[in-house]
Amino acid sequence: MDFLKFGFQTGKVILPGIDLEVTLPSNRFFRNDGIVDNLREHTDKIYRDMGISLDHAHNLDSGYAASNHLLDNSGNIASVIYIQDFSKYDNLFNYGHESTHAAHILGLEKQFCGMLKHEGFSLDPFIRFKDREVIADIGGVIALYKKFGEEIFDYKLFDSKLIYLQRELFASKRRGIGYYINSVIRSLY
Ligand SMILES: [Zn+2]
Repeated sequence: MDFLKFGFQTGKVILPGIDLEVTLPSNRFFRNDGIVDNLREHTDKIYRDMGISLDHAHNLDSGYAASNHLLDNSGNIASVIYIQDFSKYDNLFNYGHESTHAAHILGLEKQFCGMLKHEGFSLDPFIRFKDREVIADIGGVIALYKKFGEEIFDYKLFDSKLIYLQRELFASKRRGIGYYINSVIRSLY
């Protein structure tokens, strides 16, 4: 399938929310449809426009945001994401969540973890967690963190599962710095 014809991009793309610039190989494609009125109708429209059978598409629809992963018979993989408009916080979280699904399906785990490392976190969510929704939630938390810093502790959207993830993420930061200090101290002796 010619994904470029349907407005997908390859090469350098930016995954929204987490604000991660990645370089896709020529058989990987990404499209950000942004804010849509109705997730279900938009999903149907994508499938209709592209003539895709459901066998070749995987839809992750949370009720707030969605990402579709489309595979063709030539080994091409494409990801399209879109969200519904709630608040700037929810939207940012949802973009981060869906972008992380995209990073996962497009094989960008290393780049994602590189970004976490750059932000000071020593956590590999793709190894640490089995559930891809939990992995995607880490992306949602990171999206908020990159924009608002540690103030996200005050962010009221979080349910207990997200607070747990947030704590785990921040623990990895402190651990990371601790390791660093230890290794500096050790190198002094
Ligand atoms: Zn999801």
